[in-house]
Amino acid sequence: MKPADNTFIIIGGGIAGLCAAIGLQQLGIEAHIYESVTELKGIGAGFGLAANAMQALDHLGLKDEISKLGHYLGSYNVLDQKGNILVEPNTKSISQKYQQDNFAIHRADLHQFLLSKIPANQVHLGKRANSFERIGEQICIHFTDGSQAVCDALLVADGVHSLLRQQLISASTPRYSGYTCWRATIDNSSIQLKKSTETWGAKGRFGMTPLVGNRVYWYACINSPQQNPTLKNWGIAELADNFKDYHAPIPTILSETKDADLIWNDIIDIAPLQKLAFGPILLLGDAGHATTPNLGQGACQAIEDVAVLLDELKTATSIPQAFSQFENRRLERVNYISNTSWQIGKIAQWNNPFLIGIRNFCMKIMPNSLKQQQLNKLLSVDFMQINRTHES
Ligand SMILES: Cc1cc2nc3c(=O)[nH]c(=O)nc-3n(C[C@H](O)[C@H](O)[C@H](O)COP(=O)(O)OP(=O)(O)OC[C@H]3O[C@@H](n4cnc5c(N)ncnc54)[C@H](O)[C@@H]3O)c2cc1C
Repeated sequence: MKPADNTFIIIGGGIAGLCAAIGLQQLGIEAHIYESVTELKGIGAGFGLAANAMQALDHLGLKDEISKLGHYLGSYNVLDQKGNILVEPNTKSISQKYQQDNFAIHRADLHQFLLSKIPANQVHLGKRANSFERIGEQICIHFTDGSQAVCDALLVADGVHSLLRQQLISASTPRYSGYTCWRATIDNSSIQLKKSTETWGAKGRFGMTPLVGNRVYWYACINSPQQNPTLKNWGIAELADNFKDYHAPIPTILSETKDADLIWNDIIDIAPLQKLAFGPILLLGDAGHATTPNLGQGACQAIEDVAVLLDELKTATSIPQAFSQFENRRLERVNYISNTSWQIGKIAQWNNPFLIGIRNFCMKIMPNSLKQQQLNKLLSVDFMQINRTHES
């Protein structure tokens, strides 16, 4: 099969969709992205690109340029409310395994970079896909503005709320984790934050990491009913009061943040799916496996998806075969991550002081090898080799 003989459409211009378009370009495929927003800029928050994502970016030939946009993460400790270390993951051993480092990056920087690699005439903004229909061998996508587009292969990369996924699997509506999240990126000049940490306390979790350009990205997760109208109206004053007894520099970071910097949303994912491939239609990134952010792997898995998809397209005899092989190689891994992340979130968000005391005590006395186990299972395998049945 020559993949370039087929027309590809990608729905969604997030990290999954943009990386897919760049990857397909390398196979000589001019994929067209249809994106609902009218300007693609990436929201003003940071996130982690772990060593596995850097490995996937290496496969896509993007690693060197992207690592220049990222802040090198030498460590990522979990702390208690007073700042004592609960878990000190050995990120160095993982980096050695992959020969890659971990980075934190600003989402807007990554979006801008990825977008710069795609010809403008292949990106169609203000196009919200509503539904699709199969017409013979082809797929016709219907947009809310009444227009349509036809293709031979469809990559559904429109995120956790994906309408097209819900057309394929009606029960795949997003599920609420039980906690809500504020995020912001602010100036680091007066804080001088050097290390990335996440703090687990009785009044919620607080994570912070330095970014390039002398910036700090922070997030805070608090237990709450879904779309809580009171928390929706919280600003910095309420957050500062909530976290006032947490260790330094958390109160300072909050006092340096303005209400206008805050991004608020409930944390949701989708329950693990049994299928990602539907003939010539494939679910990519969050559309196929949105996960809670507790392992920092959502975007990392979207990038892994693209590396594996390209690998399959190079050798498969048809698009449905490539997509089916992709599903075979990806499903177990992305479902493991979703399930593990969901469970970690439950434990990290405990707010009962008695349970927190037991949890923190156990975490402190647990041998390092055990603490490291989950991270090793996630990161020390070569995702390109999982269920691979051919040599490329
Ligand atoms: C608080 C938080 C922290 C996180 N931290 C990390 C982290 O540290 N590391 C990590 O790897 N991941 C992290 N993630 C997850 C990461 O943000 C996502 O996994 C990643 O953005 C998924 O990319 P995507 O392209 O699949 O989906 P999205 O980024 O959601 O992109 C989907 C795109 O599709 C568009 N779209 C939606 N509907 C339609 C439609 N009907 N038609 C056309 N276009 C449409 C949207 O506008 C959007 O541009 C975090 C997420 C959250 C919420």
